[in-house]
Amino acid sequence: MEHLALNTALATALAAGASVATGALGFYCYAAQSPASQLFGRTAIAPRQPNQIALTFDDGPNPRWTPMLLDILARHNVRATFFLIGKYAVLQKPLVREMQAAGHRIGNHSWSHPNFAWTGNRQTREELTRTQQELESILGQPVRFFRPPYGARRPYTLGLARSLGLTPVLWNAMTADWNAASGDPATQRKDAAAIAERLTALIDRNQRRGFASNIVLHDGGHSTLEANRAASITAAALLLDRFTPTRQFVTLEAWERQA
Ligand SMILES: [Zn+2]
Repeated sequence: MEHLALNTALATALAAGASVATGALGFYCYAAQSPASQLFGRTAIAPRQPNQIALTFDDGPNPRWTPMLLDILARHNVRATFFLIGKYAVLQKPLVREMQAAGHRIGNHSWSHPNFAWTGNRQTREELTRTQQELESILGQPVRFFRPPYGARRPYTLGLARSLGLTPVLWNAMTADWNAASGDPATQRKDAAAIAERLTALIDRNQRRGFASNIVLHDGGHSTLEANRAASITAAALLLDRFTPTRQFVTLEAWERQA
């Protein structure tokens, strides 16, 4: 009955109009931040491995910022998981293959980043299958993970994802890093430090609760291919500097094996 009540709450929020839409998203995000939450069916978040951290990056690939991020990850000898927007990936196939060759995992983040709480079954199916086919064609291997844009999903979304061989994945450490898009380098450094501090607090909280951290940062932006992600990339570098000595960075695939 819990599912029914939540669906009703969402429907009420949607019916109340656009001004409540942010609230509906906040509701999803709040729910998603509880590692035990399994609303609308099973979704993977983070296992009971308190010393592990998975860096995940959404909304790329981004021709300007993703290559810089790849350099930073390589310097730290860390592999990450990238949830790609299909329509961006097909424009940058060599970059996607470069990510794969460096040992990073690639996940499906839909074709055009719609909110799957609002899309019909047909559009949902097209968004997922087209992205899946294109990514698998670029990579030459199966794509195993799906992150719904905004964390929004319906039972149909999750059932469809599983039928495509995808494990739906959420997160338990995220800040609004996508808002830090100022062109001023000093502001970007300040924003990056603030993002890293907030994520550090969430990583520590997850560890106290006995869970790994599944961190979302953004190397891309769903509304523009070359979104400025200086602050997000710098925040990732700060987290790597801070945590590589004491924690283990893993890809989501490592957690799937533990499941
Ligand atoms: Zn996204």
